[in-house]
Amino acid sequence: VTYDKIDVSSVLRDILPIINNQAVLHNVTIQYESVYQMPKIVADKELLKQVFINLCKNGIEAMVQGGTLTITEKVEYRERKVHVEIQDAGPGIPAFLIDKIFDPFFTTKESGTGLGLSVCQRIIHDIGGHIRVSSKGYGTTFTVSVPFSPE
Ligand code: ADP
Ligand code: MG
Repeated sequence: VTYDKIDVSSVLRDILPIINNQAVLHNVTIQYESVYQMPKIVADKELLKQVFINLCKNGIEAMVQGGTLTITEKVEYRERKVHVEIQDAGPGIPAFLIDKIFDPFFTTKESGTGLGLSVCQRIIHDIGGHIRVSSKGYGTTFTVSVPFSPE
């Protein structure tokens, strides 16, 4: 693990081709909304790539009929946090499962490992951030929030 000051936009730009390849196979369109000059965070670039790839992959896999996966960067200057929202238009996550999805080995997929979200959660906790999920009957949004790096 190598921690550096990194720009989340550059991480997302790096993985966009990988995400797009996957999306095309599932009839999914990627919409990416970037923020100009995102404040830097302290993170391991490769691990952060893994987080966003996992979350996007889940979103794409959830949209079995295709659709749009929206990736949105946000900055909250008062809270000194950057956020990346990954929103799909899949079936959503039933309320009775939402507390289980971050558990290691929890999967509803025939050949899933159930490790994606637990690994993402761990990587983000290790840099002082958190991942929230919101799903209300239709579609799911995962939000990755990480504090800015100290000056
Ligand atoms: P896996 O993808 O191998 O199943 P994950 O840890 O990535 O493991 O996800 C765990 C479970 O959380 C999935 O099997 C699925 O039930 C649920 N899940 C995750 N992301 C989404 C999503 N975007 N839409 C609906 N369900 C989801
Ligand atoms: Mg997964």
